Amino acid sequence: MSRLLIIGAGGVGTVVAHKAAKNEVFTDIMLASRTKAKCDEIAAAIGGNRIQTARVDADSVQELVELMRSFKPDIVINVALPYQDLTIMDACLECGVNYLDTANYEPKDEAHFEYSWQWAYHDRFKAKGLTAILGCGFDPGVSAIFTAYAAKHHFDEIQYLDIVDCNAGNHGKAFATNFNPEINIREITQNGRYWENGQWVKTGPLEIHKMLTYPNIGQRDSYLLYHEELESLVKNFPTIKRARFWMTFGQEYLTHLRVIQDIGMARIDEVEYNGVKIVPLQFLKAVLPDPKSLGSNYHGQTSIGCRIRGLKDGKERTYYIYNNCDHEAAYKETGTQAVSYTTGVPAALGAAMFVRGLWKGAGVYNVEQFDPDPFLAELGEQGLPWVEKFDIDLEV
Ligand code: NDP
Repeated sequence: MSRLLIIGAGGVGTVVAHKAAKNEVFTDIMLASRTKAKCDEIAAAIGGNRIQTARVDADSVQELVELMRSFKPDIVINVALPYQDLTIMDACLECGVNYLDTANYEPKDEAHFEYSWQWAYHDRFKAKGLTAILGCGFDPGVSAIFTAYAAKHHFDEIQYLDIVDCNAGNHGKAFATNFNPEINIREITQNGRYWENGQWVKTGPLEIHKMLTYPNIGQRDSYLLYHEELESLVKNFPTIKRARFWMTFGQEYLTHLRVIQDIGMARIDEVEYNGVKIVPLQFLKAVLPDPKSLGSNYHGQTSIGCRIRGLKDGKERTYYIYNNCDHEAAYKETGTQAVSYTTGVPAALGAAMFVRGLWKGAGVYNVEQFDPDPFLAELGEQGLPWVEKFDIDLEV
């Protein structure tokens, strides 16, 4: 008997709902979001009265508490936006509910994300015997679980970690983001950062890039970004001397991004227009294609993995572990593209790990702190098979 509450009915929420509906470990499932009609549409596509729906404003702790008191979930999967992480965690504490998310907290008025806000909840979750699982999408998520698996099975000491994220899909639109445009553009336009010799090294936005070769895809220009799992991984694997994150972008995408910034449409402060206050980036989101709508015409694959160098039995070794996911196959199964799919599958599986008692511990944890084995044993059959390569040229 386990009751699951999913909050957020976007691309990722759609995949979580599809995957959870197929998993018998969840006896009762509710999908709640700001717009109930979107939840109803997803529930109808899944069918069989498997998913109940509700409207909730996840910025309001009171509304969340009322919903949790009436539905009585064992765990919440938060796939709304990172702005809602803390209100949902507050409501979980008040109602005695466990928590899982895929993106760390970000204040709305500052493009800045770090784990400190959520790590600060550790003692309160622990005192109530509750578990909060942070960052259980693909990256963060599987990227950190791959790292934990490498540390457990293949290395005595991980020294160099490069997380490489390639989307080689083509959706036929001049410009669109693959997940929430506001969150995506805020992330990419920030300064870059990587970990080296015990400290963070800052770079300009997308300043460093190199050609990397991705399996079944080929060479793609890959840009160094700051990404949230770097913060927890260097803490949880202190032997790491250097940790970096790379993501591919096409020239067309980068040109649009530069224009968006140059004309002020990436601003996150309020401006007055015709007597109404608007945030330019939020307005831009309203006119850009909905990431959920990209799926029907999306071809090609994503490839995300970890390239690792370190020591095993006193000898240096290299290791590459990755998953490739096909946009068309993801769409056929869930009606969404591979970026939503690769995020939603791990979130649903992580919640299943928890309710089955395979991941446990009171407090707030990043995914690499749990046993990677049961999770990776099932990830392939859930739709995200993974591949390992040993002693190869990592290119990084
Ligand atoms: P979408 O914008 O498609 O969906 C977000 C959903 O949350 C929408 O249904 C939206 O409602 C709902 N929502 C927003 N604000 C509230 C609120 N105050 N109360 C209730 N519901 C609300 O985003 P995605 O599905 O693409 O992304 C979901 C999450 O997944 C994000 O946090 C994103 O950062 C994360 N992510 C993580 C990745 C990873 O690998 N770890 C990769 C990709 C995404 P409405 O429909 O009314 O707007």
